[in-house]
Amino acid sequence: MLARIDLRGSTPTLAELRRALPRGGTDVNAVLDTVTPVVHAVAETGTPAALDFGEKFDGVRPASVRVPAQVIADALAGLDDQVADALRESINRARKVHSDQRRDTTRTQVVDGGIVSEKWIPVRRVGLYVPGGNAVYPSSVIMNVVPAQEAGVGSLVVASPPQKDFGGWPHPTILAACALLGVDEVWAVGGAQGVALLAYGGTDTDAADEPNAVLDPVDLITGPGNIYVTAAKRLCRSVVGIDSEAGPTEIAILADDSADAGILASDLISQAEHDVLAASVLVTDSAELADAVDAALEQQVAATKHRERVTTALSGQQSGVVLVDDVEAGLAVVDAYAAEHLEIQTRDAAAVADRVHNAGAIFVGPYAPVSLGDYCAGSNHVLPTSGSARFASGLSVQTFLKGVHVIDYDEAALREVADKVVTLADAEDLPGHGDAVKQRFAGSTRS
Ligand code: NAD
Repeated sequence: MLARIDLRGSTPTLAELRRALPRGGTDVNAVLDTVTPVVHAVAETGTPAALDFGEKFDGVRPASVRVPAQVIADALAGLDDQVADALRESINRARKVHSDQRRDTTRTQVVDGGIVSEKWIPVRRVGLYVPGGNAVYPSSVIMNVVPAQEAGVGSLVVASPPQKDFGGWPHPTILAACALLGVDEVWAVGGAQGVALLAYGGTDTDAADEPNAVLDPVDLITGPGNIYVTAAKRLCRSVVGIDSEAGPTEIAILADDSADAGILASDLISQAEHDVLAASVLVTDSAELADAVDAALEQQVAATKHRERVTTALSGQQSGVVLVDDVEAGLAVVDAYAAEHLEIQTRDAAAVADRVHNAGAIFVGPYAPVSLGDYCAGSNHVLPTSGSARFASGLSVQTFLKGVHVIDYDEAALREVADKVVTLADAEDLPGHGDAVKQRFAGSTRS
């Protein structure tokens, strides 16, 4: 089922390795023609355009963009007890991890009388996109909202597509997750029009509740979504910050012959069930293990609920088995691939994991499956895809903070370095810069 790439006995360069590895991805440019008019129309007219496009793409028009408080309360009241318990557990664990990510102001005494501090200021208002096209992701509400709240973001809005089966409001499980997290501003708008409305704002002309009619634009949009959402994020990034352009999900597993083929197969399937474009890649130095995983996949795929989607994802060009000479060579492969999720299923897994450079998140040993990270590890599941883990991080408290330098020099401290500033300003042919310093000391009578 999985294609094989045999790198045994070869020593590819990094460029050759990157070319050889399975990689799919989506062509965001291909939908820009569809998405550009949507973004422009919403930027110009706001809510009416957003609702029109929602009606076209989602087949339903909610009574207002802002979801009434009673609808959110009813969603929580109707939530299954076990699901509510599991969501609370997920929230508590995520809070534990993300509260440890808070940053303190640093204060550096550069010289006597010269101090540079770095303050971490939360983004003022954030829009959190929660997908709602093919599946419902209350876990994504948690993974977006918790780090934003822990960063101290004061104003949060969750946007999610309107659902035909639920009167045009977002899915009740998403609304209930918002309620559990204390988020009371939720917009029933998704896709490109949802991203554009978050970026440009509008007025909720149909909202019954007058104070809620203003839909303020946000300063930053985070959260995963499909190709239309990603294209809109790209188009709106001139007016709003974005976390990343998320591609389809990926799992890579580095395994040796100590790994359990049945476990590996189920972990490869678990990510493949997200999307036909999802990537599942096994890197191993054991051809016997690769054969056993193939056999386990045959059995497990036949029994899994979303077998068609899984089969398409596993047999796509983005998935495969990479055979290497040893774990050392496997480490080079997983670093070149830079997976969103990387499992290490080898002997001494923690030591091997310690040597990985590039991965969105690393799952160590047989008892840390990616599904644990998707829901209840406490870690964040919004992670860099398409190889961007070489330079990017997953969502965290840091995503929602801005580092601001505060420069506080007194007269003596400036006087001490004034010559150097003037010299550097002259060297860059910017004498006005030097004059701004000289002006402060020219004929100064200040003591
Ligand atoms: P979505 O909310 O991202 O997109 C649905 C919206 O797409 C609709 O509301 C509609 O407005 C728009 N749309 C649909 N067809 C369109 C068309 N032909 N033209 C213009 N707009 C159109 O939901 P989705 O489609 O289910 O996609 C969710 C994505 O997010 C999946 O790829 C999933 O794997 C990913 N995801 C990633 C993570 C993560 O943490 N990385 C978590 C959850 C989901």
